Amino acid sequence: MDDKLTSPTTIKKIIQHFGFRFSRSLGQNFLIDENILNKIVEAAELKKDDVVLEVGPGLGTMTRKLASRAAKVVGVEIDKSLIPILTYTLKTCNNVEIINDDFLKLSLNNLIDTSFKGRNIKVLANLPYYITNPIILKLLENHESIELMVFLVQKEVAERITAGPGSRDYGVLSVIVQFFCEARLVSAVPRTVFMPKPKIDSAILKLIPYKKILYDVGKESFFKVVKASFAYRRKTIYNSLKKSQGQNLSPQKIKEILQTAGIDETRRAEHLSIKEFARLAKAFEGCLL
Ligand code: SAM
Repeated sequence: MDDKLTSPTTIKKIIQHFGFRFSRSLGQNFLIDENILNKIVEAAELKKDDVVLEVGPGLGTMTRKLASRAAKVVGVEIDKSLIPILTYTLKTCNNVEIINDDFLKLSLNNLIDTSFKGRNIKVLANLPYYITNPIILKLLENHESIELMVFLVQKEVAERITAGPGSRDYGVLSVIVQFFCEARLVSAVPRTVFMPKPKIDSAILKLIPYKKILYDVGKESFFKVVKASFAYRRKTIYNSLKKSQGQNLSPQKIKEILQTAGIDETRRAEHLSIKEFARLAKAFEGCLL
């Protein structure tokens, strides 16, 4: 199997041979551009002894490239009908393990312990669009075991994740991801590099988890405060917190908490930095619904 798997002719031959049918509901848009593939892999700064998790290997296009640059690659693919294809396209790669499972259902801790012997991993994926956020949030739960993540995602999602305060894209997703990671938008990617071609453009997103969380606050209370603050986006931070925490805390108490955190009650959530959310969460600790 010497042909490049990004070649549409090769892909057509393979899918015909195996009688494979694309599943739109599984977000199957396969990459057909070698330059974009190289950009994604280069963004991961792979070293020979790195171990890599790939979510949704598809036909094995990225998997083969990763296998040639890293010590081990584990691909988790939900679609049973892709397994014989992967066995074929990856037959010369002896450092690849394919797991036929739903990434959202498997235990990531278990996978890291068994397939990666507890080592820190890099994660790469051309993510299925319908579950981009749950996959990223699941990976963040294991941020301590992850060195770096590089994803191909919808452009709009990459913009939301990398947005800063004051931007209209800045919201719960930006704050939660940036609580754990430095987030960078590497490059825009046109819809023409996929087969079949999706209706939207994409982008390469790089997430580098901090070795140690930068803020001295529990993540549970942090998440609660961020969600409550953005629950009524058009309202001031005070009104938003009052509406979402009103049954629990008196208006006076909410005002006091905002004062303790040094946050002007007339500001809006979309203008608060992550550091300010962390201060607010700290001031709220123990008294949130
Ligand atoms: N990596 C391939 C590429 O770049 O050409 C395929 C990317 S395609 C956008 C997404 C892949 O994720 C598909 O192969 C799809 O079957 C798989 N997938 C979808 N949902 C999944 C899930 N819950 N767990 C694991 N894989 C999933």
